[in-house]
Amino acid sequence: MSFTLAIVGRPNVGKSTLFNRLVGKRLALVDDQPGVTRDLREGDAKLGDLRFTVIDTAGLEEATDDSLQGRMRRLTERAVEMADISLFLIDGRAGVTAADQGFAEILRRQGKQVILGVNKAEGRAGEEGVLEAYALGLGEPLRLSAEHGEGMDDLYRALQPLA
Ligand code: GDP
Ligand code: MG
Repeated sequence: MSFTLAIVGRPNVGKSTLFNRLVGKRLALVDDQPGVTRDLREGDAKLGDLRFTVIDTAGLEEATDDSLQGRMRRLTERAVEMADISLFLIDGRAGVTAADQGFAEILRRQGKQVILGVNKAEGRAGEEGVLEAYALGLGEPLRLSAEHGEGMDDLYRALQPLA
């Protein structure tokens, strides 16, 4: 039995960095498809003894302000629907932003399993972000550093029950 994890959150919080860490070079071959499908990257993830599918929501970075909100919403909803569980990342250095609150709203409405991750929290950075994150009402946040590989043990423990 395997499961699918969607990594969601606003641009620049570190979704792709974490995706790349989990997938390494095991990037699934994805057809060149238009629209939303093209903006979801799928890979075979490995974390300790866990093997699962991970989805990265990409393609938002170059959207204009006008189209960003709607695209983010559609893409996120699509990824969350496809997944068994979602990892909602925020940037612990930036703290909780209005955009993050919008994502939290989407996730609460969809009512599926969510792990809240506070990224860029290596060293002492992000401590405040972790405290702020509790207010999103999505449970206890995991303190992560996708770039430095910190918090992967906590992520493992959060995902282990799905295996
Ligand atoms: P995405 O837009 O959510 O996919 O974010 P990216 O993975 O492209 O990362 C955006 C920026 O944040 C890049 O410059 C990364 O190097 C940086 N970044 C990602 N993870 C971390 C982290 O754990 N700590 C720090 N300090 N920077 C990070
Ligand atoms: Mg990305």
